[in-house]
Amino acid sequence: MQSIMKEISHVFESLKPTDPVVINMHQKPDPDAMGSALGLYHFIKKLGNPVVVISPTNWADFLKWMPGIEDVIDFESKGELARKYLSAAKWLFSLDYNHFNRTRYMEGVLIQMECKKVLIDHHREPQTECFDFGYSDITKSSTSEMIYDFIVLSGKKELIDQNIAACLYAGVMADTGSFRFSSTSPDTHKMIAELQAYDIDHPRIHSNVYDNFQENRLRFIGHVLLNRMEILYDHNAAIIAIPKADILKFHIKTGDTEGLVNYPLSIQGIEMAALLIDRDEERKWSFRSRETFDCNTFARKYFEGGGHFNASGGRSNLSVDENVKAFKKALIEFTSNNNNK
Ligand code: 5GP
Ligand code: MN
Repeated sequence: MQSIMKEISHVFESLKPTDPVVINMHQKPDPDAMGSALGLYHFIKKLGNPVVVISPTNWADFLKWMPGIEDVIDFESKGELARKYLSAAKWLFSLDYNHFNRTRYMEGVLIQMECKKVLIDHHREPQTECFDFGYSDITKSSTSEMIYDFIVLSGKKELIDQNIAACLYAGVMADTGSFRFSSTSPDTHKMIAELQAYDIDHPRIHSNVYDNFQENRLRFIGHVLLNRMEILYDHNAAIIAIPKADILKFHIKTGDTEGLVNYPLSIQGIEMAALLIDRDEERKWSFRSRETFDCNTFARKYFEGGGHFNASGGRSNLSVDENVKAFKKALIEFTSNNNNK
């Protein structure tokens, strides 16, 4: 379908001060999804528009320090309230996802909304035909960096305050692996330097996100690395498959498995890591790679997913064991076809 998505700069001439705005991000929001949504929320509030953030699902406890998070509506637990705001909205801002199917049960509602829709996102192959305005750039470190660009483009950079700076900082920090991934550009560093002028407590933001768990989570990681990780040296890959019983035994909640997929990449020679988690309704995959393994294509081709070149996700209705078999088969086919070993 032909894209009709207009440049994001045209938003400013159409957005009227009284227009109600809804901001939304992908399900199980990570720091970039929540940080970009709340950064934009505080900015739009300062423009004077009525604005709410609606998350498709709940979120991890390590996000609870973010300014404004107490106002975020969880579509799963507060559907009626969320629908009220969605039906009154004149604008929908879709952040940190490329496809409405990343919003779980909100997908149908969002597709049917007749308001103006704006995409701000850094994932590959966005559903551009569904949006009126958009800013899509896969080279950007994070959606939070793109919200910063959007604010600068508005000509109202002076509205940035400590709350906005803290939310955007957290999003960029998390999506760049604390400024170490190759997506961290000179522009990213310049933005961070500017945000630091707002006197944000960056060591505290880092520990709020990364040092804010319970004992059970660390013991769970120990158990998983010892008993659930398989190294496939022939393919320079590793897989961690976590059955439902482990999730229950260790009382694992939303957010507790964040970052787990990265551990195998610290082993010399491992180029690709896969994590499978048995969730209630489906088996959820995460894929990560160093350098040349294309996680986005792999997830799209075999596991109904997608994402970025070095980080993607997918899902499947097969059992854990069947998924592991399917993964190994896919890996062999993919690496031999791509000479990607
Ligand atoms: P994670 O492994 O942290 O859940 O996701 C890694 C990256 O892949 C994120 O940028 C996320 O938005 C994307 N991603 C995760 N799951 C899916 C999926 O099912 N479909 C698509 N298109 N992208 C996904
Ligand atoms: Mn992101």
